[in-house]
This record gives sequence, structure tokens and C-alpha cells, in this order.
Amino acid sequence: MDLKELINLEKALSLIMSKPPVTKISILEKIEIRGTESAGLYDSKTDTIYLTKESINDRFHSVISLAHESRHSYQHSVIKRKNKNKSDYSLREIWEKESNPKNYKYPEKNQKTIEETLEYSCQNIEIDAIAFSLIIAEIIFKKIPGFLEKSKIDSKVYERREKIAKKLNIKAAYRILNKFSETKSYF
Ligand SMILES: [Zn+2]
Repeated sequence: MDLKELINLEKALSLIMSKPPVTKISILEKIEIRGTESAGLYDSKTDTIYLTKESINDRFHSVISLAHESRHSYQHSVIKRKNKNKSDYSLREIWEKESNPKNYKYPEKNQKTIEETLEYSCQNIEIDAIAFSLIIAEIIFKKIPGFLEKSKIDSKVYERREKIAKKLNIKAAYRILNKFSETKSYF
């Protein structure tokens, strides 16, 4: 997906989540957080989504990566009480605590055990971002991405997916995504 399409899709996702679109989307050759490579990153200080070239080299991964980082910007809007839709305000405290750099568990380079790796992916903000990106991929591609099927975090992601899907107006989300795809197709 090119940058223009990513910006349009982020606008659509923002509309769905009742948040303002991010200030900037930036494509990088490589993203490294504390010595570990990452496909994407949301920087709340500059309200910027960073994505690697590799993460957007096909439409499927573009949607998954963008929706994931866009969801982190949504979480930030909830934390800052700037979201019109207050449905996730009960999670504000836990999201705020987890996204504080002091508490956030980074995927460390030297993680040896599954438990250590899970410390990163079991954070509520990550579960929520993964679950949201799944819903969006399901709407756009009409299928559930298979890469999570055997994942250890499966049950938590699916539990959260159900909750988000209930709150989200799926029909409206379809309409919004379709409207954006009329000008630029991401199907
Ligand atoms: Zn994330």
C-alpha cells in the first residue's frame, strides 16, 4: 500500500473509532526498539505512526499493521479523555498504566522463555490492538487471519475481539471502509 492509501485507510479507521486521524504516518526501512526489530510503532508524543517498508509490502499486512498502530492512537485518545465515544473509559486506568514507559514491557532481545515473550504480548493494550486489527482484516478481506490460530494469546485476543465487535457498529464500519475503497481499492 502506498502512503496515500495508508493515510486514507487511517482516516477511515479513525472515523470508526471516533478519534482524530493521526498527525503523520512515516515509512521507515527498519524500526528498532531496545535492540528488537518491530513492524510498527505509534509515538504518542508526536502522534505519528511508524511502519516498516516490509510491513506494508502486501495489502493484508498493510491493513493489519496500520490497524494495530491506529488502535494504539485510539487508546491514547481514551487515556487523554479525548475520545467522543466513552465506551472504553473503564479501561482508561489500565491502559494508561501499561503505556507508561516505566511499566511497558518491551519485546526484549534476549528473551529466552515463552513466559518472557508473553509478558509483552499479554499486555492489555497489545491484546486490544491485535483484536481490533483482526476485526478490521475480517471486514476488509472477509476472512480471519490465520497467523494467530496456534498462538498462546488466542483466548485473550478472541475474548477482546468479541467485546470490541459488540461495541463497534460493524455495519457502519463496513460502510465507512467501503466508501474509502471506492476511491482507492484496498480489497
Ligand atoms: Zn502494539
